[in-house]
Amino acid sequence: MNHPLPPIGSTVLGYPRIGPHRELKRATENYWAGRTGPAELEGTARELRARTWAELAGAGLGSVPGNTFSYYDQMLDTAVLFGAVPLRFRELGLSELDTYFAMARGCEGVAPLELTKWFDTNYHYLVPELAPDTRFTLAGDKPVAEYREAAAQGVVTRPVVIGPLTFLLQAKAAAGASKGFTPLDLLDPLLDAYAELLARLADAGAAWVQLDEPAFVADRTDAELAALARAYERLGSLINRPGLLVAGYFGDFGRALPVLANTPVEAVAVDLVAGSSAAIPAVTALRDKTVVAGVVDGRNVWRTDLAAAASTCASLLGSVGSLAVSTSCSLLHVPYDLDAETTLPAALRERLAFARQKVAEVVLLGRALSSGDTDQLHRTAGTAERRNDHVRGRIAALRPAHRHRAPYAERAAAQQERLALPPLATTTIGSFPQTGDVRRARADLRAGRIDEATYTDRMRAEIRRVIELQEDIGLDVLVHGEPERNDMVQYFAEQLDGFAATEHGWVQSYGTRCVRPPILHSDVSRPRPMTLDWTTYAQGLTSKPVKGMLTGPVTILAWSFVRDDQPLGMTADQVALALRDEVHDLEAAGIRIVQVDEPALRELLPLRAEERKSYVDWAVGAFRLATSGAATATQIHTHLCYSEFGDVIEAIDGLDADVTTIEAARSHMEVLADLRAIGFARGVGPGVYDIHSPRVPDVAELTALLSAAATAVPPERLWANPDCGLKTRGYAEVEPALRNTVEAVHAVRARLR
Ligand code: GLN
Ligand code: ZN
Repeated sequence: MNHPLPPIGSTVLGYPRIGPHRELKRATENYWAGRTGPAELEGTARELRARTWAELAGAGLGSVPGNTFSYYDQMLDTAVLFGAVPLRFRELGLSELDTYFAMARGCEGVAPLELTKWFDTNYHYLVPELAPDTRFTLAGDKPVAEYREAAAQGVVTRPVVIGPLTFLLQAKAAAGASKGFTPLDLLDPLLDAYAELLARLADAGAAWVQLDEPAFVADRTDAELAALARAYERLGSLINRPGLLVAGYFGDFGRALPVLANTPVEAVAVDLVAGSSAAIPAVTALRDKTVVAGVVDGRNVWRTDLAAAASTCASLLGSVGSLAVSTSCSLLHVPYDLDAETTLPAALRERLAFARQKVAEVVLLGRALSSGDTDQLHRTAGTAERRNDHVRGRIAALRPAHRHRAPYAERAAAQQERLALPPLATTTIGSFPQTGDVRRARADLRAGRIDEATYTDRMRAEIRRVIELQEDIGLDVLVHGEPERNDMVQYFAEQLDGFAATEHGWVQSYGTRCVRPPILHSDVSRPRPMTLDWTTYAQGLTSKPVKGMLTGPVTILAWSFVRDDQPLGMTADQVALALRDEVHDLEAAGIRIVQVDEPALRELLPLRAEERKSYVDWAVGAFRLATSGAATATQIHTHLCYSEFGDVIEAIDGLDADVTTIEAARSHMEVLADLRAIGFARGVGPGVYDIHSPRVPDVAELTALLSAAATAVPPERLWANPDCGLKTRGYAEVEPALRNTVEAVHAVRARLR
């Protein structure tokens, strides 16, 4: 590697790929359904790639990223590229494309790879399964083929590939792998395969390649840092390779920055939005490298304060060999194009930038920096239109007492007196199956095909049916079933002031699944009750308690694009106040139990341990603000979708909910021991029915699970429930599963007497 490299200047670390109108989603789903063949799907893919390259090159980026396309996921692409295809998929004897999709989605009794969250984003990746006998080879040529495809179109690209360390650190040992094996054991053979890829890219003409190493913005051991050094020492010393740009995003490279800087890589991309530039001047080895400054937020939808970004960049000029500007991470995490939106208020619109606008920002910034003319750059305007003085006054008046309830023992006694629930009380998590009729009614209302009154009648009929069914099954605490909710965050965002919805703001969550997160742009307030009518209607149909059902403040933030002009904790408190008012209204209307769901509590956990305490403080504080206005005799439930609490287990205790329902069916109740170990002594409902599978558990296995649970938790604090909402299941499974649960509970109760 001794030929001079072209400067990067301005770039983005990656781009959305699902298509501005979700073309790839449609094409892929058509292919899966057998409506089209592979040629049609490949055609759509090629068109989308061509459009992306044309757009990025046309916008004037100094360096255009390549290989940003994926049929499903970039980690899966990397596994396939290097031949890490577990035997169970190879044995299927499918085409390359179908093997790839089988790894993503499973097929005829063959389980797919595990799907899990990509760092602290809402994107999910497929977890490669590695074993001592995994043989890495350069099995594919996707990055090379796409480099050539772009070149044929006249666009020179910088292929983006997951780096070898992040690939291994985000992979897992296959179920049968020997004890003591970790994927990192495979680093050397993997590097051989990377070396071959780099040579092929160089032969194809690629001047640069980007290797993504976001795993190093999380805490890493000395051994992992040593492996990073060894890997880039080795790749850097190859003769036949493109220039190496190693990218870290979603936070600060921390200790990894000097490590990388001391290897022969030519460039390092740093996230200056989630991380900071403070450490850069001290790393002298950066003085002869290119530093790609990620100053345009790739994960959020706000327009960049370019004047501030320019001064950040300017402050680095003396400390680095050469400076380029970029997004903080791939633009995969934001929608395509603000120009597609027609209904956003002008004042909000002015503050927004989606992927296409962010590309333009990077280009503008790059030009301004190289010409030295940064005076004309955009400065973020004041915050006046985002303020709601009433909300601000309420926040300012908050005292610690607003986040405290009476001691649990006192509450438990008052609630038991009021509710008189049997031991091992039975309930569900909230939603019931969303039938075609229910979805149609919501769609009809949105499209104006039916009026409000007709819609209300249909929803009420559904609620009545769900209440009658629960009474017939013999559940103790009922729910209204949530038929009116499309999505547990969107439903609230649509009713709260301070949020806006987009029409086309889709972002990929995983594979063909996209979400359209609401935008939380201003102070949040609740103009009117949000759930009261449906809940009280349901309660009017039965003498059994019906749970009010709310989504918690942390989850509402986690699944929205959130304003970045004030601390998240402050925004969370505003949402919490709105929920607190809702709890109050529900109570006043006679609702005796309110559930506040926080399935995203663990998702927002910072990647670095040192930042976790302050996160937990505000997250728990907001939940408590939402729930602590409840009377002593009102029972507060919360639902957390998972059971591997890890670092958040203390936070769960801190929530101080009267009853916490969790997933446990798949983790065999081990979680109860974990909870006992931290002294958790409130109500707990370990999910005994795994709703993630169509399987109906029988009475014997439910009885066994509940009996085991009853040895870890006293029966008066133990609940029996499914492990999540039922909305994705069908009645054919849900009804027998719930009946079996009730029968199992009766069997366990009989033994208690
Ligand atoms: N109450 C919600 C439901 O039942 C909870 C879903 C969730 O936590 N993911 O659908
Ligand atoms: Zn759940």
